[in-house]
Amino acid sequence: MANFIEEIIDADLASGRETEITTRFPPEPNGYLHIGHAKAICLNVAMARKYGGKCNLRFDDTNPVKEEEEYVKSIIDDAKWLGWSGDVLFASDYFETMYAAAVTLIKKGKAYIDDVTPEQMREMRGTLTEPGVESKNRNRPIKESLELFERMRDGEIADGALVLRAKIDMASPNINMRDPIIYRVLKARHHRQGDRWCVYPMYDFAHPIEDAVENISHSICTLEFEDHRPLYDWVLRECGEMFPHPPHQYEFARLNIKRTIMSKRYLKKLVDEGFVSGWDDPRMPTIAGLRRRGYTPSSIREFCERIGVAKANSEVEVGQLESCIREELNQKAPRAMAVLEPLELILDNVPDGFNETLTTEVNQFDPSAGTREIRLTKRIFIEKSDFAVVPPPKYKRLTVGGTVRLKSGYIIKCTGYEGEPENVTRVHAEILEGTRSGEDNSGIKVKGVIHWVGDDAVPALVRLYDYLLTDDESKADFNDRLNCDSLIEKNALVEEILGRAGKGDSFQFLRQGYFCRDIKEDGLVFNRIVGLKDAYNNKPKQ
Ligand code: ATP
Ligand code: MG
Repeated sequence: MANFIEEIIDADLASGRETEITTRFPPEPNGYLHIGHAKAICLNVAMARKYGGKCNLRFDDTNPVKEEEEYVKSIIDDAKWLGWSGDVLFASDYFETMYAAAVTLIKKGKAYIDDVTPEQMREMRGTLTEPGVESKNRNRPIKESLELFERMRDGEIADGALVLRAKIDMASPNINMRDPIIYRVLKARHHRQGDRWCVYPMYDFAHPIEDAVENISHSICTLEFEDHRPLYDWVLRECGEMFPHPPHQYEFARLNIKRTIMSKRYLKKLVDEGFVSGWDDPRMPTIAGLRRRGYTPSSIREFCERIGVAKANSEVEVGQLESCIREELNQKAPRAMAVLEPLELILDNVPDGFNETLTTEVNQFDPSAGTREIRLTKRIFIEKSDFAVVPPPKYKRLTVGGTVRLKSGYIIKCTGYEGEPENVTRVHAEILEGTRSGEDNSGIKVKGVIHWVGDDAVPALVRLYDYLLTDDESKADFNDRLNCDSLIEKNALVEEILGRAGKGDSFQFLRQGYFCRDIKEDGLVFNRIVGLKDAYNNKPKQ
């Protein structure tokens, strides 16, 4: 089914209002992109692709104070990773055009120089029920405004002393239309323009011009800009001679995800205050974080596809994002065994130096992935939680006198343990003859199958992540919801093939979830992407 943007585009093409589709993604380079931006990128890229048009990546770098080169680089990188390709453009390259548009407005008597302070501006703006108050400068002669605007540009005016305001309607029911400021004096160095400019355009004035300069056919943005659309249209209409084919703005609902922070400003705070290791910390909902966590571009695109494009704001469950990568990796990821909390187990009825090669499937859903070999040795390691001195009810794993199958190996029977009941240091067991996996005709039934690693296991650091926010939604402030247990590190022992994993390779660790070798750390570090939860029903065969 077509989303409402597609319906609009179809109608515009049918009526001939548009012949070529051009969209844009216009981030402000004041932080890294997050999953909400991914939704905007996927939508804009999908529209351009579907209609054989293009999608520009345009930096909205009209605010010189906050912007950094690092962010520009990361945004290009992340957008490409998600599947965007096209032109990288900078709004600051259009400053000359914006300045000319402002001069046009002044000349038409549609803009004037005012000297109001931000406080006065607020006081005179009026309210939703009361009209605003007109400034004494509203009818300043055009010639005077032109001169003052030039002096603003030439650096003769101090920051904040004068502003350029659009002359629209102080009684408009839409407060955005009450003579908004469109240019201000700011003696700040710009990351691309250097010290060339002392005046900078405001977003609501700059954005429609940026779209017009690039011949954007459909300017898609989030709902909070709906009330700004009349101003968007006003700017383009009043500068009609400069922009004869004005673009149009359409709004869709922004993505919100439960327990997920979706604001660059707040994410930056987490980085600056060291709550996370950086913008690409695998717990971060940034593209860089998700990527490092082990998400794939296709899983994120699939998520954006599934949540759809709506006109009403809503909040989706994190589980919806997680199931996209889980389902993908369930099909694609090789399986391997990793013991996160190792407990030594000695097979007492095999000789010293025992070493038997067993065969196991790489991925039961992908027969073409074939099989791999694992080695059973006299000393193996099992998960601490797979042995219990006093088993809880319905415990299906190992207890003294109990049996369990070693995945793709033999059934073993536990004969005892060393250490204290609350601090077991070693378990002893025996292989039951004739129970080798695939050749077992012993008739012995076991309730549990456990994963294990042999003597050739490799140490690895495994990072288990929880959400950055607790689920206490009664607290409005993110600061009160920060989850201090969002990272748990385990000194694990992993199967020999995992020791040879490349950075960014993903696996299903049997019974544990999906893990990705960290792309940054040189040591052997695995990040848990998601648990098995939904996919757990598809238990591997023994
Ligand atoms: P933030 O508050 O996180 O900084 P922003 O909207 O200020 O977000 P921009 O860099 O201005 O960030 O956004 C670039 C584009 O991404 C805009 O078109 C914006 O509408 C879109 N966008 C931002 N957040 C979301 C979101 N949560 N869902 C969908 N689109 C979003
Ligand atoms: Mg913003």
